[in-house]
Amino acid sequence: MTSVFFTPWKEWGNMFGKFRKLLEASGVVDHIQKGDLVAIKLHVGELGNPHHLKPGYVRYLVDAIIERGGKPFITDTTTYYKASRHNALDHHHNARMHGFTYETTHAPFIVADGLGFEEGIVVPTEGEMESVHLAQLWEQVDKVIVFSHCKGHPQSAFGGAIKNIAMGCATKAGKLEQHRMVGLEVDLSKCDGCGVCLDKCPDDFPVIENGARITSKESEECMRCPICHAECPTKAIELVDRERMPKALASTAKAFLDLVGTDNVSYISMATNITWGCDCFAAPGEIIAPDIGIFASNDIVAIEKAFLDKAGTEVFEKAHGLSPLIEVEEAARLGLGKLEYQLMEL
Ligand code: SF4
Ligand code: SF4
Repeated sequence: MTSVFFTPWKEWGNMFGKFRKLLEASGVVDHIQKGDLVAIKLHVGELGNPHHLKPGYVRYLVDAIIERGGKPFITDTTTYYKASRHNALDHHHNARMHGFTYETTHAPFIVADGLGFEEGIVVPTEGEMESVHLAQLWEQVDKVIVFSHCKGHPQSAFGGAIKNIAMGCATKAGKLEQHRMVGLEVDLSKCDGCGVCLDKCPDDFPVIENGARITSKESEECMRCPICHAECPTKAIELVDRERMPKALASTAKAFLDLVGTDNVSYISMATNITWGCDCFAAPGEIIAPDIGIFASNDIVAIEKAFLDKAGTEVFEKAHGLSPLIEVEEAARLGLGKLEYQLMEL
């Protein structure tokens, strides 16, 4: 049976020491061979986010990779939305401001999608999507360690390893494809044409005509962010087909694993500072679950299920009105891993 290794969070414990033991016991670095180019896929946190992954843990992971003869680097893609990680230069600055420097982590930070405006490679997949745009760098790496921070997410209920490689390894085109699986509709019986949605939209996408918002005339570049949905004073804006987004994440994760090779990828998930919103928010909202610990596995489905079994699915359902199991069960259905696992607590 698939194993998920777990070290519980101890308020007064030496978590760096426990993390090093977890790396050795779990075998998540054992697939690395001399000379391998090893990507550590992580999220440095939107500028100002206080709860992102801490770079001190990354250093121990980097050192473990170097000990095995691998050549590690830290990586992430640029964002579709225009904020502090929209292009590679800003993303580098953001990473340094959050402590992801060579001095701290012992590895360089390389933006996966060039300067941030590459179309990427089209990779076929199954499930909710037929194909997806991924950054070209993923064709060139030998091994990947997916180092995730578990937290809530307004569109997929939670974000862990699946979201880290699905949204996090896609180019801007791939990110837009996944976000637009969610539909946006306006109930014209509630819309009074006030224009708040237009004022709040970062890209001025809403079209207001004759006292109403006309979505059929709007840009196909709207990523369902969904600021206007939250800000509409009459609650006229509805997000529909919401379950398609977490299913699209699983579909994209399949494309990634088919491209890189399932046996070349392993996972570490940090379940502390579990916030309402994801690390893409500078202010991700309140902490919605207590600190749990750190998970490690070679199975992407098992590690996500183990986290949700510890955290409880209801906390994410309550926060976001969507089951966090949708993406995990879809990933299992697509053959990415197993829902059954053996928890090995250290
Ligand atoms: S904010 Fe809501 S009510 Fe106002 S124009 Fe937009 S959709 Fe209509
Ligand atoms: S969801 Fe609304 S606020 Fe967000 S990009 Fe689309 S139109 Fe703009």
